[in-house]
Amino acid sequence: MSSTDFALAVEDLTVSFDGFKAIDDLTLYVDKNELRVIIGPNGAGKTTLLDLICGKTKASGGSIKFKNEEILQIPEHKRVRLGIGRKFQTPSIYENLSVLQNLEVSYPSGRSVWGALAFKATPDISARVQAVAAEIGLSDKLDTEAGLLSHGQKQWLEIGMLLMQEPELLMLDEPIAGMSAKERDLTAELLHRICQNRAVIVIEHDMDFVKKIAHKVTVMHQGKILAEGPMEQVQADPKVIDVYLGH
Ligand code: ADP
Repeated sequence: MSSTDFALAVEDLTVSFDGFKAIDDLTLYVDKNELRVIIGPNGAGKTTLLDLICGKTKASGGSIKFKNEEILQIPEHKRVRLGIGRKFQTPSIYENLSVLQNLEVSYPSGRSVWGALAFKATPDISARVQAVAAEIGLSDKLDTEAGLLSHGQKQWLEIGMLLMQEPELLMLDEPIAGMSAKERDLTAELLHRICQNRAVIVIEHDMDFVKKIAHKVTVMHQGKILAEGPMEQVQADPKVIDVYLGH
């Protein structure tokens, strides 16, 4: 496979904090339309890896290619424009605005949230809002104040806000934390829809959920990749059982 077939190519990536290698010479390739799940014990380096890919943390060495372009020196806000979206665990939606307004202000036009109330959406923006609302399952909630949504709906809205920016790589940190069983199922369906035309990387601890969503699983341990492959393969790997799944 040539490197152009990957959405993301991370090679020999390293970052040290006061001499401690949190990511240690790590190489990872994620295909277009792939849903990759990263698992591993606490402190394995999962969050740090996503921080390096989105540009929140600066790497000490190695390479990160997104759509075949080296992005290691590109600042975080420009990586967003290139098509890298990152959702953290805590939702950062505007609770006092409607679902519609939350989506509209996320359109990448540099508009401030304060302008949202007097804002007139162009047909382009309205079409994108409708498409994204359908994708996240909130078409019938567009006029609802975001603060009144359920916990799961708030998480989906935040995913929708990222989708407004048309990412080609979406990274999610424990997307089902605090969700009901029904919301978890709907989130699995949402992630399957999203990766039909984007690459998705998810950090997740819930193994039942991982089995439901992952095309491939990467197991991290001490800043390195311990195992990688389909879930059935990695969960039968003695190294993985030893450091993670066996506990
Ligand atoms: P995980 O997400 O797998 O639980 P993290 O990526 O949060 O692991 O952390 C990996 C290791 O790097 C941990 O030992 C953590 O303490 C350390 N670490 C992460 N960020 C920093 C930082 N900014 N400064 C110092 N140490 C850090």
